[in-house]
Amino acid sequence: MVQISENYRRIRSQLPPEVRIVAAAKNRTADEVAEVIEAGASIIGENYVQEAERLLGSMSGKLPGKAELHLIGHLQRNKVNKALANFDMIQSLDSLSLARAINRRIQEGSEALRALVQINVAGEESKSGITPEELNGFLFELSQLRHIKVMGLMTMEPYCENPERARPYFRKMRELFFGASKLQIPGVKMHTLSMGMTNSYAVAVEEGANMVRIGTAIFGPR
Ligand SMILES: *Cc1c(COP(=O)(O)O)cnc(C)c1O
Repeated sequence: MVQISENYRRIRSQLPPEVRIVAAAKNRTADEVAEVIEAGASIIGENYVQEAERLLGSMSGKLPGKAELHLIGHLQRNKVNKALANFDMIQSLDSLSLARAINRRIQEGSEALRALVQINVAGEESKSGITPEELNGFLFELSQLRHIKVMGLMTMEPYCENPERARPYFRKMRELFFGASKLQIPGVKMHTLSMGMTNSYAVAVEEGANMVRIGTAIFGPR
């Protein structure tokens, strides 16, 4: 437990202040999550709706303090209602049909859902996300959906033992991010570039990430 706070504080102190950290909490206990929030973490990432429900269920319905819960895994359309009930942001918006399903289920007058568009930057079979070529068109479509507020982009780069080999993918993401922000699409913001995990976050930040998602380096190996 002490380890978790120490890990979080060490990583926090090594990163520039404008880089936000998502503590990627897959399969961690509520105690472990409470510990990292206590150490200062303000964003917790979960991969599954069910995991979020389990976590919040053991925390009286919400995370302590002002911590936010972000969905960082693929969302199935039949789980949209539950996702809306549990997450403050979805970082894995990866299709127009999902976006439309979300948009339909948010009631008039309630807050829009903040979302990042997930990009499959290397076109890997095993990963979800739109292709880089689809991005601009996708953003124009999303700008029509009033209940979704696009805040930026997210990617899960191909795993590379040597993170230097992931650098070109991060660089590509930065180009997409700046390209999209130049379009100035109404209602679409390019504030957040979420990329980099335990073995790659340092390189990702060098290439422009302002949000990193870290699991193992905070909570220890699974
Ligand atoms: C698990 C996960 C992470 C964190 O991975 P680590 O290598 O443990 O830091 C980041 N993003 C996503 C989408 C994940 O599923």
